[in-house]
Order: sequence, then C-alpha cells, then structure tokens
Amino acid sequence: MNKADSERMAGILEDMGFEWSEDPNNADLILYNTCTIRDNAEQKVYSYLGKQAKRKHTQPDLTLVVAGCVAQQEGETLLRRVPELDLVMGPQHANRLQDLLQRVFDGNQVVATEAVHIMEDITQPRRDSSVTAWVNVIYGCNERCTYCVVPNVRGVEQSRTPESIYAEIAELGRQGYKEVTLLGQNIDAYGRDLPGVTPEGRHLHTLTDLLYYIHDIPGIERIRFATSHPRYFTERLIKACADLPKVCEHFHIPFQSGDNEVLKRMARGYTHEKYRRIIDTIRQYMPDASISADAIVGFPGETEQQFENTLKLVADIGFDQLNTAAYSPRPGTPAALWEEQLSEETKSDRLQRLNHLVAIKAAERSQRYMGRIEEVLVEDQNPKDVTQVMGRTSGNRLTFFAGNINELKGKLVKVKITEVRAFSLTGEAVEVRQLLSVDA
Ligand code: SAH
Ligand code: SF4
Repeated sequence: MNKADSERMAGILEDMGFEWSEDPNNADLILYNTCTIRDNAEQKVYSYLGKQAKRKHTQPDLTLVVAGCVAQQEGETLLRRVPELDLVMGPQHANRLQDLLQRVFDGNQVVATEAVHIMEDITQPRRDSSVTAWVNVIYGCNERCTYCVVPNVRGVEQSRTPESIYAEIAELGRQGYKEVTLLGQNIDAYGRDLPGVTPEGRHLHTLTDLLYYIHDIPGIERIRFATSHPRYFTERLIKACADLPKVCEHFHIPFQSGDNEVLKRMARGYTHEKYRRIIDTIRQYMPDASISADAIVGFPGETEQQFENTLKLVADIGFDQLNTAAYSPRPGTPAALWEEQLSEETKSDRLQRLNHLVAIKAAERSQRYMGRIEEVLVEDQNPKDVTQVMGRTSGNRLTFFAGNINELKGKLVKVKITEVRAFSLTGEAVEVRQLLSVDA
C-alpha cells in the first residue's frame, strides 16, 4: 500500500517538473513516505530526517516533506520535533500533493491530516516496474483489531468505483503492463460503501464482481489481490478465482494467531476452525493454490500454550510464505494499554521459533515444484547474477533462470524447475508464450 502511495506521489512530482535523484543529498525536495505499523518502522524516519533537517540550515530552499502514516499519527507534534519540515501530510492526502506543495512554495508550513474524501487520481503514478502494477481499489479500514494503528491513520473505508478501476487497468494494459495487484487493507470490504444492493440484499459491488468485471481487459495476463480478511472471505470469491484463468491461485489471508482466545482479544471476528475451513475450501477448488499469511507473536497476555496453538496452525496448514512480527504496542490502540505486556525476550524467542518452523514448512511446500513446468512472468534481471532473469510463478514463488532481460522482460515463460529453496526456485526456460500486443 505504501509503495503504491509512493508511486502516485512520485508521479505527481514528475508531473510538476521534478526529476528523480539517486542521492538524497543532491535533491531539492525530499519526501519521506512513512510507515507506523510497528515501532521500528517509525523510528527509521526520525534517523533519516535528522540529517536532512541539518542540511536545510545551509540550504534553505530545500523542501522537506513527511507523508504517510507517521505524518498522520504525529501531525503537529512532528513539526515541533523537526521545525525544519515544510509539509506533513497523511496518506489520505497523497493525491493532493501538488496543491499542498503550492502552499509551501507560497511560503507556508503545512499540516494536512484532516479526514478527507479521497479524490479520484488523475495523475499517472511513476511506477517502479514496467511489468507489474499496484491498483488501489479500497482505501482505509473499518475494522478495529485491538493491536492495529491502520484505521487511525488511514481512515474509514472508501471504495473506488468499478469504472475508475477499470479505466486505470485498461490504461495499464495499453502501456504494456502484464500483471495487476488489486490493493485494500481489507479487500473483502470492497464495495460495501458503494450504493446499490441486489434483490437478495447483497451489495451490488463486491470484490468477486470486480474480478469478473475487469477480467478480460486486453493485455493484462495476471490478476492478484491483497489483503484478504478471514472474517469476510466468501466461497463465492473462491469459486471466482477457480473460474477465472487470469486470477492467480495465490491467497494472502492473515490469521494473526492460531488461538481462539487471542483471536477474540484481537477482535478479529473468526476462530482458527473457521480459518482452517477457508483454507480447506480453497484447496478443494484449487488443490495447488499457494497460501500466505501474516502472524503476530507475543500479543499481550499470550501464554506459551496459546503461542503453541499458532505453531500448530502453521504446522497443519503449511504456508508457502508467512510474514511474522513480534507484537509492537501502537499509540492510540486498545492493546497497547493492557497490563499483560510480554517481555522483549519472550517475544523474540517466540518469533525465532515461529520463523524456524515457517522456513521448514515453506521448504516442504517448495518441493512440489521440483521437475514441474511453471509459467513465470519475467520482471527483472537477477541482481546477483546478470546471466539470469527473475520473475514469479502464478503462485508467487520467486524464480530465476538463464536468459537475457532485454528479450524476456514482460514475457510469460514456461520454466522447468530444477532447484528448489524455501522461498525461491531456479529453472530452465522451455518456451516463451506469444502474446498479442494491445493497440495503444
Ligand atoms: N489489513 C491487513 C494487514 C494490515 S497491517 C490485515 O488485516 O491483515 C500488516 C500486518 O502487520 C498485519 O497483518 C499484522 O500481522 C502486522 N501488524 C499490525 N499491527 C501490528 C502490531 N501492533 N504489532 C506487530 N505486528 C502488527
Ligand atoms: Fe489493521 Fe485489522 Fe484493519 Fe487489518 S483489518 S488494517 S489488521 S484493523
């Protein structure tokens, strides 16, 4: 989500005539897009900022911007802490960057953190990749998970209309992009704030309907989406994914904890049994689907037994990938105020034990690829070996194989897998799929 916001803001800056600089010390304008999901992410921005704030004393026309979730959370406090700042702007204001900067150039110090209706974006993002692209479909989050700062900083759910999403993806297809990832904090909430219900009382616009609606856009060969919430994940969506060939068979569904008591105190709204049923249903429809998730260890009051229930869930399901984190108390969230906080030692011990199991399970899951032919969408050169290119399988496994990036970038290549590791694969090209080009 943050990368997508960065690309949109970079697009606005480019539109205003700014050029990208590789070295921040040469830049006339520096924009930090910040994350506050955990404390260590937040601390990073202060260390970067300190240095550039000093530079401003000898170079007064340097413009310093802090955008994103730390900006939203800290607001005016950030200005008091770093008076050299010109602009502090929350994530909902990303599309307004040009107007906000105009006020800065007119001589003002600006804080933009009020809740706003997010404007439909008309600027072209400056995308890092020319093959894969992020597409926001819903901003914000209406859940209240007791550990999470996202609803405080990203505000309430705001879905984009299906028409504007379609138009953005159609343009990406014309520009030669091959893959889109639809983004939302809780993407299953897509459409519930848009008008219209069906005769059965279902929302007219859902993620499932959106997938059908955008599926045949010319040029786009792969569709992904994230993040799914177990509370709202439907069998209708699973069927659609099985049914629609361009939708990748990869599901990112965070479970956070394998223990029902902890899940309840996190206010997640499901049990581990329900989570397991979702995965079973996915595997009934798509036996080979990749499953990834997020999990938190050391939530306040988590006992050893409750942590072991998380280990058990991970052992039973066998994730292809799992993002793990030690619980970090966040300002303005209920759980941060609870008394039963665990020690850093306990948290880091549990994190290590979980990560160890994740690597073993992921390596087991990788085994199924050995000797198989997988289609890989080539994104880039392998930075560690220029004779190789890299891309992802439909199941999202990073894959390397010998080839020339100038010939293969953006191509779908059938690759015979010859080597497997926990989180990546190596193989040999067998055949390049011929794609029709889209008339621009
Ligand atoms: N909307 C998504 C993810 C939001 S944040 C969801 O509901 O799953 C991404 C991940 O960061 C979360 O899945 C969670 O695992 C982690 N996270 C969020 N708040 C955290 C906290 N206070 N401490 C540690 N990890 C946290
Ligand atoms: Fe945070 Fe929960 Fe919303 Fe995800 S669903 S962003 S974890 S509050």
